[in-house]
Amino acid sequence: LESQLLCNRIQVRERLKKNVEQMKSQDPNFRPGLVVLQVRARVYDSSLYISMKLKVAAEIGINAIHLRLPRTATEDEVLHSITEVNENSAIHVLIVQLPLDSIYKIDTEKVTNAAAPEKDVDGKALRCFNTINAGKLSRGDLGDCFIPCTPNGCMELIRQTGGYSGENRTKLIGRSKIVGAPMHDLLLRNHATVTTCHSKTADLAAEVGRADILVVGIGKVEMVKGDWVKKGAVVIDCGINHILDGTRPSGKREVGDVQYSSAKEQAGFITLVPPGGVEPMTEHGLSVFLSLYLHGGNDIVSSR
Ligand code: NDP
Repeated sequence: LESQLLCNRIQVRERLKKNVEQMKSQDPNFRPGLVVLQVRARVYDSSLYISMKLKVAAEIGINAIHLRLPRTATEDEVLHSITEVNENSAIHVLIVQLPLDSIYKIDTEKVTNAAAPEKDVDGKALRCFNTINAGKLSRGDLGDCFIPCTPNGCMELIRQTGGYSGENRTKLIGRSKIVGAPMHDLLLRNHATVTTCHSKTADLAAEVGRADILVVGIGKVEMVKGDWVKKGAVVIDCGINHILDGTRPSGKREVGDVQYSSAKEQAGFITLVPPGGVEPMTEHGLSVFLSLYLHGGNDIVSSR
């Protein structure tokens, strides 16, 4: 199972790599440039997301730069860095990694709005979470909205497992704006019969036990146990949690919201323990933006 999912991820990256090669064949001097701007990570997962973005970008032929500002950076300094990126013709795409972890107060909206529209790929990702976009997704106007990266990647993973159909009983745990709510809408519009569970759900284990497809985004260390999982179910675990691990140089390691060791005995398909599980598909979602953006430039803004 692990090798199949790995294989699928490789296919996605190969496709993106070909996209970039095609662009280069039209203009041999062209090398897509990406800057990820970070004001020192408050949480470890920001750095994890960034390192994965940089790794995938490099793999598909994008010149990826991590522009890291210290915690002492002021709003003006962050805005100045963004202006420099805006004016640098070798950089085509800018991602401002949130949260901005400065000791000073920084207006996040002002900073993200400062990115030049033609370079602001993450702005599109962020716009996924605005009310108008969420409303469109919820109403099923999929051709007229931005689909958030993580749910988009999860949907791709579910499709890749084969046997996906509206007859499957799908259970989703989590209803956040970033993961759960858009995942629910996306599943529904892909004809899943979906039940969304949350912290007030009475008997979570029983709900999980009825799932042919289970998508989990809770943020709680290995909360879903293997013996809850239905035999043969597809298990997509979005969770990235950190636990202490004295055997690692960092002193910690990542685990999901699902107890992988026991759930893999039950599941037909299961995502890997992070890093390597859903987040590369989040990067896939982002890469889709990226390749659309590099192909379409401003047209993407105006046509959506
Ligand atoms: P939030 O904290 O915003 O939402 C958590 C959701 O889980 C809420 O809907 C909450 O319910 C529900 N929940 C919490 N406790 C329980 C419980 N005991 N039983 C059932 N449901 C519960 O988290 P996010 O959605 O932002 O993130 C979820 C996880 O996904 C995290 O581990 C995060 O790191 C990871 N993540 C991974 C990404 C990736 O690329 N793989 C991207 C984004 C996030 P309620 O609404 O009732 O409070």
